[in-house]
Amino acid sequence: MIDLRSDTVTLPDTAMLETILSAPLGDDGRTDECGWGEDPTVNSLETICAQLTGKERALLCVSGTMGNQAALMAWCSPGEKILAEHVQHLHYAEKTSFMDAFGGRKVCSYSLDEKMMPRISEIQKKLEEEDIRLLTVENTNNYAGGVCITAERMKEMYELAHAHQVPVHVDGARLFNAAIHLGVSVKELCQYTDSVMICFSKGLGAPLGSILCGSSEFIQRARVIRKRLGGGMRQAGIIAAPALYALSHNVKRLEEDHENCRICAEILRDLPHLRVANEVQTNILVLDISKTGLSQKEFCRYLRKQNILAGPLLKNGIRLVFHKGISRDMAVEAAEIIKNMDD
Ligand SMILES: *Cc1c(COP(=O)(O)O)cnc(C)c1O
Repeated sequence: MIDLRSDTVTLPDTAMLETILSAPLGDDGRTDECGWGEDPTVNSLETICAQLTGKERALLCVSGTMGNQAALMAWCSPGEKILAEHVQHLHYAEKTSFMDAFGGRKVCSYSLDEKMMPRISEIQKKLEEEDIRLLTVENTNNYAGGVCITAERMKEMYELAHAHQVPVHVDGARLFNAAIHLGVSVKELCQYTDSVMICFSKGLGAPLGSILCGSSEFIQRARVIRKRLGGGMRQAGIIAAPALYALSHNVKRLEEDHENCRICAEILRDLPHLRVANEVQTNILVLDISKTGLSQKEFCRYLRKQNILAGPLLKNGIRLVFHKGISRDMAVEAAEIIKNMDD
């Protein structure tokens, strides 16, 4: 099977799993007066991630959802407004903070421009007209097809938000992909954020875990919320160890995923019934299948018969995601099969 459903399907290799066996462990839920737990591996990971993002502190979370939602709840109270892009993962897919029965925060939305980057004029208008308490940004943007927000645009948004005393949270589930494509450091992108969440379980290939970074005071509040969300952990070094391994072994290779994605897109360009719908920048390719006469379900079922797994994206889209488990040959093979289906 060529599994292109997501970069979450990557399996940990032996070397990654072996780091768990030798990781020093302790009870992360027992904290000292400075908010450090007793698991040395978790503390190493949090220290390294704080340095990587240029923030004071970091907090290991079970999932990206937990990191994002802890951040939203740490920044805003129930009833307050969060300015988010209209199909941003933390709102559209996660929902928790915005559900009346859970977080009770309100959403106010902005759209993307022709380059699939946040529309500044609209953000400005909303900041001026509404009582916004937090601006959220997704980099890379999943539903836009893995498109990156440049450091310049991040800076513009950050300055605009701060002029209205509004902090900025970045959902950086794939922030390393963005940094690699843009040729900047993660730290450079993070200087225009007040908090940032990064996933180890996407292209970085760890089995689970995400990190939330920000000021000491913010992380202290997020830690309390994480516990309420069920994320108070014990020997969480078993999560932190593969994440540390991912940071030292799997960052640079993301470029291979981008390259494989680009090659696949090249093969699929200029077909009569299929259209590459996104500007391929990172590891996500979106096909517009509206002219095939097939539904997303039918299209995926057809691919499955050819040993390719893919999933639907919004309306008329099929998302192909390239990752550590997909070689160059597999990427080309998948592209050829999809191309020939069009004959
Ligand atoms: C996957 C993802 C998340 C959430 O991560 P989980 O670990 O699945 O909870 C958040 N934002 C984006 C953009 C994602 O792709």
